[in-house]
Amino acid sequence: MKVPLLDLKAQYSSIREETRNALDEILDSQYFIGGPKVEEIERRVAEYSEVKGAVGVSSGTDALIASLMGLGIFRSPLDRDEPDEVIIPAYTFFATAGCVWRVGAKPVFCDIDPDTFNLDPDQLESKITPKTKAIIPVHLFGQVARMEEIKRIADSHGLKIVEDGAQAIGAVRNGLKVGNFGDCAALSFFPTKNLGGIGDGGMVISNDEALLKKVREIRNHGMEPKYFHKHVGGNFRLDAIQAAALLVKLPHLDDWGRMRRQNAAFYDLAFSEVPEIKTPKILPENYSIYNQYVVCVPNRDECMEKLKAAGIGCEIYYPLALHMQECFAPLGYKKGDMPNSEYAAAHSLALPIYPELGQERLEAVAKALKEAVARK
Ligand SMILES: *Cc1c(COP(=O)(O)O)cnc(C)c1O
Repeated sequence: MKVPLLDLKAQYSSIREETRNALDEILDSQYFIGGPKVEEIERRVAEYSEVKGAVGVSSGTDALIASLMGLGIFRSPLDRDEPDEVIIPAYTFFATAGCVWRVGAKPVFCDIDPDTFNLDPDQLESKITPKTKAIIPVHLFGQVARMEEIKRIADSHGLKIVEDGAQAIGAVRNGLKVGNFGDCAALSFFPTKNLGGIGDGGMVISNDEALLKKVREIRNHGMEPKYFHKHVGGNFRLDAIQAAALLVKLPHLDDWGRMRRQNAAFYDLAFSEVPEIKTPKILPENYSIYNQYVVCVPNRDECMEKLKAAGIGCEIYYPLALHMQECFAPLGYKKGDMPNSEYAAAHSLALPIYPELGQERLEAVAKALKEAVARK
């Protein structure tokens, strides 16, 4: 039985008519950038996330950039000082680090907690210097990082927090949803995220009205009023067709999340008797939305080959920790600096977790992985 890592067509078939009607409405209006649909999805996502406001932007990456710029972390050509530093986990999607670099700040890597794949607060304080301006904790694979500890450290040093919530819209920790822990959070609507658009899109959500206003200006070249520029911003705008497609999907998000969680529960149980397969640990105070279900196995590359040969989709998120990336070689990190991130990069494997998987496919995945780890 073939099982793809992700099957977006299964989901689309359940909302096909509604989506096409929504797109038709946009085409008939010929209003493509910003406008009422963008305002509506901003309102809806803010409500859903239980925050004061939201600014729709062109991608999750741009949500991170606009957030950093909004918080004043942006090096101007007139700036002769040493660059600001921003602390981020060494194990995350590249965008978290790339955005720090692109605003002219220096990414400072912190290792992860090997159980959750999230930034380890116990190692955070040792990374802080007088140049540190902010921390970007990532809620990786849909589970919120240990934000109380991170916030306590940030507050005691006067640091800003941008949550990278690209994989974690609606994820909860101790009763709070993503976006309520930091100064703001960046969301992504890349099609593989839990709330995926029909192209690129993202959002900045926050409880800080002044920050939201500034990000709203930065999204459109820092322009307010028209052709008067208070700050330098960019074109980080969200398209109306993305907003329209997202408005169709948002009401289903919680149901789809519950289906992902049921799939995860099935795998947890199926692998509970296989000591070689380390299943993802979700802390009791967390409600994960399982953007990914990532296990660690000793013979990862072999497992991946065998699963692929058996027609089971799987993927490595992420095969090389960020401090080892070629583009960051000038930062001077070396192998061994972030052992938990390096371990995760060498042993992690993401399995299909999409809502529409169904029992038969779940069983096929579990069976194939059990066989792959056993035949070492
Ligand atoms: C997807 C992702 C991003 C970037 O989002 P895009 O919409 O693809 O630009 C940033 N951080 C993390 C952790 C992500 O998974």
